[in-house]
Formats: sequence, structure tokens, C-alpha cells
Amino acid sequence: MKKTFTLLTLLLIALFGFSQSFVMINTDNQQETENLFNNSNLKIHYYNDDFVFATAETVDDGMIVLDSEAFSGNDVYTLVYCPQTEQQSYLGDGEALLQTTNFVLVKGIAMPYKNDGAVAIFNKEAKMAVAHRDFPVITEENVIIREMMDQVNMDSLQATVQHLQDYQNRLWNSQNAFDASDWIAGRMAALGLEVEQQPFYASTWTGSGQAAPNVIGIQRGTLYPDVYVVCGSHFDSFSYEAMYGGGACPGADDNATGVASVLESARIMTQYEFEYSIVYCAYGCEEMGLYGSEAYASRCQQEGMEILGYFNNDMNGYLYGDQIHIDCIYPNTAAPIGDYYMNVGSVYFPELPIRHVNFNQGDSDHTSFNNHGYMGIYPFEDYQNYSPNIHTPQDLIGPSVNSFEMSQQYCRMNIGCLAELANPVDHTDVSEIGYTDEEIVRYEVYDLMGRKASNNVNTLESGIYIVKYITVSGNEITKKIVKK
Ligand SMILES: [Zn+2]
Repeated sequence: MKKTFTLLTLLLIALFGFSQSFVMINTDNQQETENLFNNSNLKIHYYNDDFVFATAETVDDGMIVLDSEAFSGNDVYTLVYCPQTEQQSYLGDGEALLQTTNFVLVKGIAMPYKNDGAVAIFNKEAKMAVAHRDFPVITEENVIIREMMDQVNMDSLQATVQHLQDYQNRLWNSQNAFDASDWIAGRMAALGLEVEQQPFYASTWTGSGQAAPNVIGIQRGTLYPDVYVVCGSHFDSFSYEAMYGGGACPGADDNATGVASVLESARIMTQYEFEYSIVYCAYGCEEMGLYGSEAYASRCQQEGMEILGYFNNDMNGYLYGDQIHIDCIYPNTAAPIGDYYMNVGSVYFPELPIRHVNFNQGDSDHTSFNNHGYMGIYPFEDYQNYSPNIHTPQDLIGPSVNSFEMSQQYCRMNIGCLAELANPVDHTDVSEIGYTDEEIVRYEVYDLMGRKASNNVNTLESGIYIVKYITVSGNEITKKIVKK
């Protein structure tokens, strides 16, 4: 009898005693967030400056219980940024667990609000963003980096936006989105990047299945090939008109402009060598809850990839007013990358207004990185006056992308931030050694700015070049040559 009783007790404890609650905890400052990460009672799934979502073994004061059995009967919660008055219409099949003035938390899958901002919260453990190394302090321009910035071409940006806009829609699992993914992969491969298309599965309110895959392009660093600087953008688009038929979602500003910035950065930066590796990303399925960047950033965390910083590119073509400016979004825990961004801006573009804003009406892919322990920043067109046409058939060049000059400025900043971290190899100060006994196996030609030039000396324009000879044992011998 006693034995039976004990077994029964154990069974009851197993069933009820260990059930864990899904809770929200408000935070006032970064220290409180850090304390929660160090609390063994909690498994944190998501955090921002104002609160965390976590699974708690025991419920304490200060926790708001949202679901008494965490992740029971659902493998995801959706955070939808949406004004309270409109929340009811965006619940999908989900149940509202919490409604505040600017967001609703839904059990299960919910619909994205019209102005962006659905975040899927998975049963995975988040990590707090930590800078593994200090960001450099930039005090003066690097002439090589300035030269890269000067090459950002508005026609080139516009051609990419036009191409993506011409798909009409790039809904997350549509054939068009798969085609866009392939097209971006082709562009990256043509630049000589190591390209991967990362497949991933998404469970959204419009259905479940394979999303158009992420495109990941890597430019290997010469000195630290396994340490990375990352930039990214999402290529999917969304509108209710496209979803229900009768309209398109061309997604020119949101987010062909971001993809254009990433591809233009890659076009220019692949002409140079860097000490650290650079990753150029294009994600699928951002609009339904940051699924693509979550798939990539969580894999980076699992693999222990060292990432020095993440720079997001999402909406940079709608200029409100007549002064180009940048609104930077990042959590307080990622303040070091925010300071770094402003540092780069102040050195290269002292007249450009850049400010840190607290945006609580939407979200983007930098959050996936911050939630997986990396410093991520999101330079945004304007947190109060962003394009009113996003997520509608009018998200087009013209009404929605009204300034490629602004896109150009955002792309220059993207390049500056990546390049200052990745450290361009300066071929101008190589010492000249002209003799070796070893067999030469290949050679590379650079101009004085360190850009790779043609290996066919006959096609070089007149000027001075550096030729790097690589010997059979891997030694490098350089020589200056003058092409007449
Ligand atoms: Zn977007």
C-alpha cells in the first residue's frame, strides 16, 4: 500500500509538480535583465529592454504567468506589435495571453500586423548579447574604406530593387520567393563568395512548410577566416492583398532596399581583401516572425561561431523630410555596437544625424542575433515616419522608395562598419623582396589601393602595381611593377 502510495505520489509530482510556467518579467534596466539570465529558475526565450519571456520552474513575485504549462499544445508563442484597438483582428487562430497598448502575446501562431512586427518565440534558450572583443575606436578615416564607400552606386542599388519589385510578390513560401532566393545566390556566387542556401521550416498562420531558403555568402578573411563580421537583410515580402488575392506585395522598400544594400556592399568589398571573414545574408520568412534569421543565428550559436558584430539592412529608401538621417535600433545590452556605429558615422559622415531610438512597434532580424548572444544593430529609415506603403501593393519605387541617395548613404555606413571591423589588407606597405630560390606556384596582382587587379598584365591600365608571388612552400614575395 505504501509502495503504491509512493508511486502514485511520484506520478502526481511528475504530472503536476514539474510543470513549468511561461512568464513575462518586466525589466527596468540592463542589470535586471542580466540578473534574470543568471537566475537558474528561469530559461529565457526572448528579451528586449522592457521585459523577458521565460519558462519558470517556480513562480515568484514579479512574474506575470501567461501560460501555466509552458509550450503545452503549442511549440511557439507569437509577439505581435500592434495597437490595442486593432489586436483582435490579428490573432489568427491563436489565443491572446496578454494585451498591452502596443503588443499582444498570442499562444500559437498569429498574423503579422500590417506595419511589420511579428516575432515567433520558440522553446529555445536565448543568450544575452555579449561583446567577446571590444569594438575598435575609430579616430580617422581609412583611405581604402573611404574608397569603397565612394563606389556605392545608386543605379546599381536601383537595379536590384527594381528586379525584386518585379516579382510582384515574394510571400515566404511562394515560388517567387524561391526564385528570389536563387537569384540572390547567383549574384553572390558571381562575386566569388562561398554561397550556401540554408533550408528551414516555418509554421505560420498561412500554413506550414519549407520557406524560401536563406542565402549565406562568405568572403573569407586572410588572417582570421573563422572570425566573422555579418550583415543581412530579408528578401520576403508581405501584404494582405497578396495573401488573399487581388493585389501584390512588391516590397520595394520592405525589403528590396535592404537586399540591395547587402549585395552592393558585397559587390564592392569582394574587390578587396580583409583579415576577418565577412558574411552577407539574405533571409526568407522574416515577415511571419523572423523565421529565417532565427534559423541562421541559432545555428551560428550552436556552432559557436565567433561574430564580431551584426548589421541589419531593412528599409532604407523612404526619406521623410529633406535631411537624410539614420535611426538606430538595438537593445541596451548591445550598446557597444550602437556606440561603434555612431563612431564610424562621426568619423566618415560628421554631418549625418544618427540617433539611438527605442522602437516598440516592430522588429527585425537583428533581434535574432541579439537573442543568440551576438551584438546586433538595426539602422532604420525613421522610427516614426517610415514608409506608409510597406505591406501594401504601393510599396514601389516612387511612392515608397523615394530616395536612392538615402539608400546609398545607408549602404556606405554598412560598408564602413563591416570594413572597419574586418580590417582591409593594405597592400601599399608591403616590403619589397625580389628574390627567392623557391619555385613560384602562382601570383596575384594588386593596385596600390590593395584591390585585386587582372592577372593578365597585358590588360592592366598604365600605373604602378604590386605583384605577390606565392612560392611552393607558401611564402610570399612581393614586387612593384610599372605598367607603361
Ligand atoms: Zn522588413
